[in-house]
Amino acid sequence: MIPPRRRHPPLLAALVMALALAAPPLAPAPPALALKVSKEREARLEADFRRWLHGPFRRRALKEGIPEKVFDAALGHVKPILKLPDLVLPGTAPIPPRQRQAEFSSPAHYFDERSLRIHAERGRRLHRQHARLLRRLERRFGVPGDIVLAIWARESNYGRASIRHDAFAILATQAWLGRRKKLFRRELLAALRMVASGEVPLRRMKGSWAGALGQPQMMPSDYLRYAVDFDGDGRRDIWRSVPDVLASIANHLARHGWRRGVHWGVEVRLPESVPCHLEGPDQGRPLAEWRRMGIVRVGHQPFPKSWRKRTRIFLLTPAGRYGPAFLVSRNFHVVKEYNTSDLYALFIGHLADRIAGRVWGPFETPWRDTGPMTRADVARIQRELEKRGHDVGGVDGLPGFRTRRAIGRWQQARKMFPTCFPTPRLKRRLPGG
Ligand code: CA
Repeated sequence: MIPPRRRHPPLLAALVMALALAAPPLAPAPPALALKVSKEREARLEADFRRWLHGPFRRRALKEGIPEKVFDAALGHVKPILKLPDLVLPGTAPIPPRQRQAEFSSPAHYFDERSLRIHAERGRRLHRQHARLLRRLERRFGVPGDIVLAIWARESNYGRASIRHDAFAILATQAWLGRRKKLFRRELLAALRMVASGEVPLRRMKGSWAGALGQPQMMPSDYLRYAVDFDGDGRRDIWRSVPDVLASIANHLARHGWRRGVHWGVEVRLPESVPCHLEGPDQGRPLAEWRRMGIVRVGHQPFPKSWRKRTRIFLLTPAGRYGPAFLVSRNFHVVKEYNTSDLYALFIGHLADRIAGRVWGPFETPWRDTGPMTRADVARIQRELEKRGHDVGGVDGLPGFRTRRAIGRWQQARKMFPTCFPTPRLKRRLPGG
């Protein structure tokens, strides 16, 4: 189940992420999960699509106040894009998601040093160039410029990525054949509202393969809720106006509870005596408690002064014991509201540190190779742990914090050293592996 505020459905998010690793980000998706259909079947599917779109869906849209003219201009000539990922053909089983993904095969790819350096350097230049704007943004929204710039970098390579897919075709295809129809039907209606309000010309409705719009890559419903007109021309233009783009990102974070002046997080050394399954946003403790357990910041630097006595601080081990460990504040979890992935939020925090000059190189503890694991492998481990009464946060094939610590707890209960990450070895140890 997707929490209501989740921006991209996880599979799409992961795909967007995987794409964003390549330069330039958001390049056209390789149709890795594309449906293979014959010409005849394609024609039949298109006919079905049109019947649905111009029948029940059109009635619903008009009932919800979308003018006929807008509906027909936006969707009149749209064809389904059958090569989109994550579609389910009528009468067939969902495609088993066997592809490897950055999230769990190798977090190291996410933190490619070369691309981080390029992003950081460009970010420092943009920080100087937009210094006044960024100060105004921080005053108004409380979010520091380096964080806003890092999200801009990740989402659209500081606005350089070409985002040119017809958002209506993508949203309509997902709304009709996707695995998350309900979510995409809402997004399609939100996209229609954007145009109906007169704020966004139809030709501007270009998006990524996930249907996310503009330089901040917002889903249409997020645009309606969080986009901001910061250059004062009366339009929220997240395609062309840098002030609007950056303000919309800052507002998204502010509205999800960003705390002014509180540092997002730092890398730490985690003694072996501290079990990795203490991680997660529901196991916060004051910094003093973590320190009593022997956790120190890397390089023996002091912890952020903004972490006061009563601030809840959280442990984060995105690769369990196979990579660096972090202590993070609530603001880390606010970044996850932008894109719900620990690696995403960590990338943003780390890049922000490098843009601001707080950190100059890679993490002290490297990401270790954990062996090849597919999404289906992770799902199998999750099912086995669920059978044993562990909360893995749902069987979705992604090793989120709930899955990681369920692994750690299971290991500890069996007197093994908790490593909190799915590996081929762990897979073999669990029955059914
Ligand atoms: Ca504007």
